[in-house]
This record gives sequence, C-alpha cells and structure tokens, in this order.
Amino acid sequence: MSKSGDRVVLIGAGQVGASYAFALLNRGIAKELVIIDKNQDKALGDVKDLNHGLPFVSPIKIWAGDYSDCKDADIVVITAGANQGPGETRLDLIGKNSRIFQGIVEEVMASGFKGIFLIATNPVDVLTYATWKYSGLPPERVIGSGTILDTARLRYLLGQHLQVDTRNVHAYIIGEHGDSELPVWSHANIGGLRLPEYGQANPEKAPKPEELDEIFANVRDAAYQIIQLKGATYYGIAVALAKLTKCILRDEHSILTVSTLMQGQYGLDDTYLGMPCVVGRNGIVDVLHLDLAPEEREKLIASAKVLKEAQGSIAL
Ligand code: NAD
Repeated sequence: MSKSGDRVVLIGAGQVGASYAFALLNRGIAKELVIIDKNQDKALGDVKDLNHGLPFVSPIKIWAGDYSDCKDADIVVITAGANQGPGETRLDLIGKNSRIFQGIVEEVMASGFKGIFLIATNPVDVLTYATWKYSGLPPERVIGSGTILDTARLRYLLGQHLQVDTRNVHAYIIGEHGDSELPVWSHANIGGLRLPEYGQANPEKAPKPEELDEIFANVRDAAYQIIQLKGATYYGIAVALAKLTKCILRDEHSILTVSTLMQGQYGLDDTYLGMPCVVGRNGIVDVLHLDLAPEEREKLIASAKVLKEAQGSIAL
C-alpha cells in the first residue's frame, strides 16, 4: 500500500479512463492517482490537464507513471483496450482485449501488487475472469464493473417513468454486462414497496408489463443507442467506477452489482457475472442471494452459459 494511503493506478486513459480520472479528482476520492497508457502523450497530457484543476479540489497527487507504481497501489483500475464500434457486441472484443490484458496483468503482478483489481474493459465479465486467472489473486480482490451501469440505467429509467427520485428506486440488472443480462423485477422496490404494491397504491403510475419490457430493452440497448449517437459511452461508467473506488477505499460496504466469481450460487461456478455484492476495503465481502422467480433463474443460467462459452475462447 502507498505511504500516503489511497493510491489508484489507472491503466488506459481513453474516454472511459480519462472521465474516471476527472470524476476521482472532482469527488476527492483518492490521495494519489497514477496514469499509465501505451500512448504516453495521452497519459502525460491528461496528467497536466488534471493537475491544473488542483487549486479547486481536495489534495491529490497525479502523475504519469509506469508499472513499478503498482507495487504500492491500493487499487489498479483497467480501462485499457478496444471499445465497441457501431453494431459490434461486447463479446466481439474478446480476442483483442484478452491479449492486451494478459500483458497488462503480468506487468502489474511483476511489480509486487497486493491490492484490488477493478476491471471495466469489455467484455468485462470475461476479462475480469481472465484477470483473476492471470493474477492468481483471491477472487474477492478481482472485481469487474459488471452490471453496475446497467443497474443505474434501470433505476434511472424506472424513476423517470414513476416520477420518483432514482435513489429511492431499487432494482437490479444481473448476469452478463451485455445482451444476455436480465432485470430482477421480482425484487424491484420503490422506497421499500415492491412494484405490485406500489402499483396498487398508485394505479395511475403503475407500469404495465409492456412498459417494463420497454424500460428493460432501453437499459440493455443503451450502449448501442449512445454509440450510435456519439461513438462511445463513458460518463455513466466513470461515475460508477468512482463510486466503486470510494466504496473500497472508505470501506463503505455498499451493495453494488459488480462482476464477481460464482462459487456455487444458483448452481453456477467458475464464471464471473454481475450480482449484488457488499463491497469494502478488502473487495467483495458478500454476494447477496436473491430468491429469484423461476424465469429469472432460467435467464441467469442462460446468461452464465453465454459467458462460460466466451471464457472458453481465451488463452489462460
Ligand atoms: P478508448 O479507445 O478511448 O481508450 C482505450 C485506451 O486504452 C487508449 O487510450 C489506449 O491507448 C489504451 N490502451 C490500449 N492498449 C493498452 C495497453 N496495452 N496498455 C495501456 N494502455 C492501452 O476506449 P474507451 O472508450 O475508453 O473504452 C475502454 C473500454 O471500456 C472498452 O473496452 C469499452 O468497451 C469499455 N467500456 C466499459 C463500460 C462498462 O460498463 N464496463 C462502459 C463503457 C465502456
């Protein structure tokens, strides 16, 4: 761990990585931020630019570093690699990004790194699994962003539909961060009221089944829609990663839908996928067990199958 505490090393200063660095700076989350990118000019440029904001934020030391800086890192965040082009699925990126990851994780581990990996590069579940395998770290210290963003999108859209503050809307997307993900409607609640109870109390606002389907379709397809509009998505994930970072560094024990290793839950094992987890200073503290409706369980098992097949295509 770093002498000053709270060192984050960011690998990949592209659109997601740079937005995440900006979110960390603004929210005063880390004491040290090291930026590494194979494009050294981009890393250096971002470091200069971010440092010019220092008079206006909480103290933070930011520099363009190298892999030796990972030795004392509390968290290494990886956002390096190719992103989706229009019409491309996340799983289409598997070949390119798993090769990049093998090299990165080997370099990080060679530094003597003993902290927590946070992975955001797609396909995030498969690359988090690969990072766990390549690093040899215990699974609770290798975390993927999973369905954290999809869950945020669901809470936002449901809140918009019901005209309720998104922070009082609780609903999870679980499974793959990708096309086979699923909403857990059976546990969705608004301020503690399950959806059917909320609908009974507010019949004029109660979402019809086809409206719930449409909300979910907009969650699942959000990345495609944004990529069509502006080429890439980065602000939502950046804020989500900043929250995850804070949750770890401050030992918050928040419940977040991150990608974690299945170890027998729902009869699943040896695959990483998005599940609500308690997250703290040592990584994953607990994986929540949801009493899923039968059709949700079936969809989860199908999603895990997609991921397991994808895992099979990477060299481990
Ligand atoms: P980008 O192309 O803007 O940035 C990628 C960066 O990685 C570039 O700066 C590049 O130089 C760097 N890089 C590539 N290989 C490297 C290596 N070996 N070592 C160090 N740096 C390297 O892409 P982006 O838009 O920032 O997206 C990054 C990733 O994040 C993509 O895989 C994208 O699909 C993913 N993403 C994930 C989520 C999520 O919810 N998990 C959301 C949005 C994007």
